[in-house]
Amino acid sequence: MAFLKRREIIAAALSAPFWHTGMSRADTSLAYDVIVIGGGTAGIPCALFAAIGGARVLLIEKSPALGGTLFWSTGQIAGAGTVFQQKLGIVDTPDQHFNDCMRINEHTADPALTRLTVENAGDTINWLAEHGFEIMQGHPVTGIGHDHFQTRRYQQGMHSGLSILNAFLPSLEAQISSGNITLLTGTAVEGLIQNTRGDVVGVTASNSGGIRDFRGRNTVLASGGCAANPRLFEELHGVPLYAQTAYPTSQGDGLLLGMSAGGAIVGGEKYASLPGLVPDAFKFPAQMHAWAPLNPAIRQPWEILVNSRGERFVREDHPSVHQIEKGIHEQPGHRHWAVFDSTMLEKSDPIIPDWTRDRLSNEHHQHPMFFSASSLTELAFRAGLNASGLTRSVADYNQRLHGGDEDSLGRIHRPAPLSTPPFYAIAMQGWTLVSFAGLKVNAELKVIDVEHRAVPNLYAIGEVIGAGATSGAAYTNGMLVTPAITFGRLLGSKLATQG
Ligand SMILES: Cc1cc2nc3c(=O)[nH]c(=O)nc-3n(C[C@H](O)[C@H](O)[C@H](O)COP(=O)(O)OP(=O)(O)OC[C@H]3O[C@@H](n4cnc5c(N)ncnc54)[C@H](O)[C@@H]3O)c2cc1C
Repeated sequence: MAFLKRREIIAAALSAPFWHTGMSRADTSLAYDVIVIGGGTAGIPCALFAAIGGARVLLIEKSPALGGTLFWSTGQIAGAGTVFQQKLGIVDTPDQHFNDCMRINEHTADPALTRLTVENAGDTINWLAEHGFEIMQGHPVTGIGHDHFQTRRYQQGMHSGLSILNAFLPSLEAQISSGNITLLTGTAVEGLIQNTRGDVVGVTASNSGGIRDFRGRNTVLASGGCAANPRLFEELHGVPLYAQTAYPTSQGDGLLLGMSAGGAIVGGEKYASLPGLVPDAFKFPAQMHAWAPLNPAIRQPWEILVNSRGERFVREDHPSVHQIEKGIHEQPGHRHWAVFDSTMLEKSDPIIPDWTRDRLSNEHHQHPMFFSASSLTELAFRAGLNASGLTRSVADYNQRLHGGDEDSLGRIHRPAPLSTPPFYAIAMQGWTLVSFAGLKVNAELKVIDVEHRAVPNLYAIGEVIGAGATSGAAYTNGMLVTPAITFGRLLGSKLATQG
């Protein structure tokens, strides 16, 4: 709880309107060496390492408190050559990490940014460890919810993302106290200031007291993604924001700011679906009612998965959950239904982790996404599925199982036929926690414009560069938080030397 106290202190001390306090907390006449927009996963280490390197830093955070998505994120991170690996005698290299990442995302991530991440991720994790970051028992692991690495290099802090924030805050406080970082919370950057040549020379920020300009030699966009902004998300990805699961401050401000200075947006086409969200209703964006991971590494499937035509579309026990996710991505509206019978309900672990069998059974009487019926035809009608498609799919599944024939999709885990009424269906939706589209940056993290030139003095780190940049068209273990912190650290140190 010491952590919460510290966070509250920083927020309370600095959230008063800076021009109503009688003393200017951020000097508008000063040209800061570095202005960091957003005090979250990427922005905090950037401000911190710039200040440690001797730069005069202005850190501007829209919320009353620092932390951003770290308040919600599981904060799973990966790196090679960490103290946690060394303790267990695990031998690992950045090359192996690179190859594992690119294998998992099928070479869809930016190779230069992936390389920059893996070469420095070990040092990032070791820095966190030196500052009190402790990991869960049994970690590092090869994987958790996504396709696994071949080496144990993936870990989660004891308190998820908060463990990372907690490791940052004492050093940040020290830099604020010594005057190297000026922190403005409750203050939103609303514009970039450019000179006649187009160089970014500062920002315009506002809070409840009004609007002020601040000058800076370098400006870093670290304001997060846009997966909490349905309109912008859909515009940049061509896919609706199916569920509201991102941290609420992920409104895409940095993407808009970057675009205003000519920055190019890339990566929307890399949008990847996570499986198994049970929405509260078929509306966009929906709230998550429940979640079935549909990951054979977590639970081998008993059910079949069908689309609205009642057809199976993916091998439900595929060893790669990424391939299951891709199968879902190809279905209309990314919707899918898990269909099962009473034997499966009775004998299998519930498809929704942490739910009891009774809860699962009762839900079919009370929630609009859960259906039951005494026949498959009736079930299809209730669930809004094509009845002849569903009966054909189930008949084919059962016949091949009885006959000892290979499954039509190559499924191996077939513990029981789907034949004993009542029958059940759960409606599910593909979804995402993050935005894949983002500002194009080069390997120096400079924002690149639509004519492939760097926008002078403007940098971007964190999810504002899009999940597609480092995670690719997939959910690659830790390839959002790890690069966010690592790029923050590297860029902060580099900009300090340019002061
Ligand atoms: C539930 C959940 C679990 C996740 N788990 C993982 C995981 O285990 N591993 C992984 O790699 N990734 C994970 N992710 C993704 C990852 O956490 C995020 O991509 C990452 O934390 C984003 O960091 P960021 O610095 O870009 O944004 P944030 O940490 O959100 O920080 C951005 C900050 O900018 C501020 N801001 C926004 N606009 C402005 C403005 N105009 N002016 C000033 N400030 C502004 C915001 O208030 C916020 O504090 C998860 C995401 C979620 C939602």
